[in-house]
Amino acid sequence: ETPLVSVKDLNKYFTVDKKQLKAVNGLNLEIYEGETLGLVGESGCGKSTAGRTILRLYEPTSGAVEFEGENILTYKGAKLKALRRDVQMIFQDPYASLNPRMTVEDIIGEALDLHKLAKGKKRKERILELLKLVGLDSEHITRFPHEFSGGQRQRIGIARALAVEPKFIVCDEPISALDVSIQAQVVNLLQDLQKQMGLTYLFIAHDLSMVKYISDRILVMYLGNMVELASSDDLHNEPLHPYTQALLSAVPVPDPKQKDRERIVVSGDVPSPLNPPSGCVFRTRCPHAMDICAEVVPQWQEVKDNHFVACHLYETE
Ligand code: SF4
Ligand code: MG
Repeated sequence: ETPLVSVKDLNKYFTVDKKQLKAVNGLNLEIYEGETLGLVGESGCGKSTAGRTILRLYEPTSGAVEFEGENILTYKGAKLKALRRDVQMIFQDPYASLNPRMTVEDIIGEALDLHKLAKGKKRKERILELLKLVGLDSEHITRFPHEFSGGQRQRIGIARALAVEPKFIVCDEPISALDVSIQAQVVNLLQDLQKQMGLTYLFIAHDLSMVKYISDRILVMYLGNMVELASSDDLHNEPLHPYTQALLSAVPVPDPKQKDRERIVVSGDVPSPLNPPSGCVFRTRCPHAMDICAEVVPQWQEVKDNHFVACHLYETE
């Protein structure tokens, strides 16, 4: 099976204060049609940059991104425009991403106009259909973003993304800014839409609790680097990387069977990405750090079936 999205040795570096900031450092991943890949890490770990670079909203420093088997970095003109329809992004802060002076009709209509998808009566019908799809009422069509709650605004953002009938959506922390009570509703909506429309998601989040439910597989990043990738179940039942273990121990566990899981507290702050530690980037906060960790970058390897980790604790040779 050809992955829908295939990311190969992707790097995205920025220059900050004459120093190189490796926001995304050696990203390799595949996302298959209909699946949700969760991408998790603390803020500043490069996950949003990764999402934007995969969609070619940022040009990568090096590497390749294939969509349906083709390198999108070579696209221009009509091909690039078609890609802009096939891939969409849902943002963390729907308020910042929705023009406050535009009505819902204009916001969703703009997406339809951009790709010449509907006009006149058809356009309005389609906008009403999209509102219904995301659980908003038809009378909302004439309202402005400030007249909605956070959860409703995120529904508008979702409707706008869906207007162009995309195949792949990068959801960049779509629920982080919402009240906890609303988060599950938006996650459920995204899951329903995925089933109905056969969508594929890259779902970015900074904590694992919600991602667990929506993701088939989860990739954990730390300071721009991939540290662990596994199915959602394997990652939760048997996290291998000390960073993943720490992230999980910070999640309140409602399951009484898991009450005794050792709580590991990650000490210290995330180091500056402008000055990352040598060897393993996690070593300054790792409770298991060894001498080798300061000297040698741990290799990415498959330790168990479809369970990958970059950590010297698991290196076999
Ligand atoms: Fe910790 Fe070393 Fe593994 Fe890095 S490589 S996570 S420092 S044990
Ligand atoms: Mg972010």
